[in-house]
Amino acid sequence: MQRIIIVGSGLAGYTLLKEIRKRDASTPVTLITADDGAFYSKPNLSNALTAGKSAAALASASAEKMAADLEATVLTGTRVESIDTQGQRIRTDCGELAYDKLVLALGADPFAHGLSGSGAADALAVNDLADYAAFRRAIDGRMRIAVLGGGLIGCEFANDLAQAGYAVDVVHLGAWPLERLLPVEAGQRLADSLAALGVTWHFGRTGKSVERTADGYRVTLDNGETVAADVVLSAIGLRPRTQLAQAAGIPVGRGIKTDRLLETGAANVYAMGDCAEVEGLNLPYVQPLMVQARALAATLTGTPTPVVYPAMPVMVKTPAHPVAVLPPRIGAAGGWKVECGDTGICALHLDGAGRLQGFALTGSETSRRNTLAKDIAA
Ligand SMILES: Cc1cc2nc3c(=O)[nH]c(=O)nc-3n(C[C@H](O)[C@H](O)[C@H](O)COP(=O)(O)OP(=O)(O)OC[C@H]3O[C@@H](n4cnc5c(N)ncnc54)[C@H](O)[C@@H]3O)c2cc1C
Repeated sequence: MQRIIIVGSGLAGYTLLKEIRKRDASTPVTLITADDGAFYSKPNLSNALTAGKSAAALASASAEKMAADLEATVLTGTRVESIDTQGQRIRTDCGELAYDKLVLALGADPFAHGLSGSGAADALAVNDLADYAAFRRAIDGRMRIAVLGGGLIGCEFANDLAQAGYAVDVVHLGAWPLERLLPVEAGQRLADSLAALGVTWHFGRTGKSVERTADGYRVTLDNGETVAADVVLSAIGLRPRTQLAQAAGIPVGRGIKTDRLLETGAANVYAMGDCAEVEGLNLPYVQPLMVQARALAATLTGTPTPVVYPAMPVMVKTPAHPVAVLPPRIGAAGGWKVECGDTGICALHLDGAGRLQGFALTGSETSRRNTLAKDIAA
């Protein structure tokens, strides 16, 4: 009987385990994770204040419960340190294990913020439940939060914090939020809606240094402007965790490179979720990893199944002005056709023949996302 090892207890690792168990109750599966293995849905981290949930309340099941429910071995607090792809063995900080099939669901690391100054080491990033618990402790009883980065995660935290009564400054290099996904009109509408909630924007700027002061921190921007804050949250992006694969000689690009079967350059080693680059695409969102988990579970249980993505719009959880976006392929020809209404914006990315290639919808227009997604080929 073959032995499957999954590394990672995020949505990717656990969703794969659940999908395997739907198909096969008996193959031994061991899931190894460096963290405590509690099951939680990561997207909830950036709207938990509004939802009235503590970090502890976001964990819906312990590792022990997951192991019992899914009839698997879950090794928590265990870090995989190296992979011997020839011998099909992994070395962990608790010993060695042999595998027949190995799945890397390692996630991504926050970018290093590169700040200097006496308070730089105190800047926080939130990428898992433990980070979030630390963030909630840090903001407890404080008021002023400086958020570095106005991408998806920065905007969602800004909305959640401002809604909860915090004074929020967002420092963002782009000229409008989510500028790589949204045309200017849509980004500006989101920025205005968050500003109406009390968010102060610093566009075209980066944070340079953070100094401790008598009552908190002083963040100095690249133009010399300063922002006073009690807590600094860095949300400038994530980098797929590729080091383990790279050290094992497995080809990596932005993520761990795989084919459509999610197999890496090493036989019997697979990658999925935020760490994976599937035929050149690294899609660090929930829906792609769900599609990957279903396909890989079929493959691992004897039915080789390539990943085929449907059109997958991403919802930005900014209740002040929600956004649904399905970006066109990188390098797609054509341009945005933007219609601005009082309650929302509909931006369609059309090619020269008028064919829909992507869209960005805001406010009331987000209700059209599923209909429009059907018009875009998988
Ligand atoms: C605040 C926030 C909000 C988000 N909101 C949305 C949203 O609204 N919609 C959406 O689609 N996406 C959203 N995302 C993205 C989405 O949450 C991620 O794509 C998804 O959770 C990634 O899951 P994962 O399992 O690949 O990675 P992770 O959840 O990061 O899990 C990685 C796992 O690997 C383990 N690990 C890593 N290295 C090792 C090692 N060497 N040994 C052992 N274990 C190891 C870690 O301990 C962890 O258990 C959001 C992300 C964030 C941070």
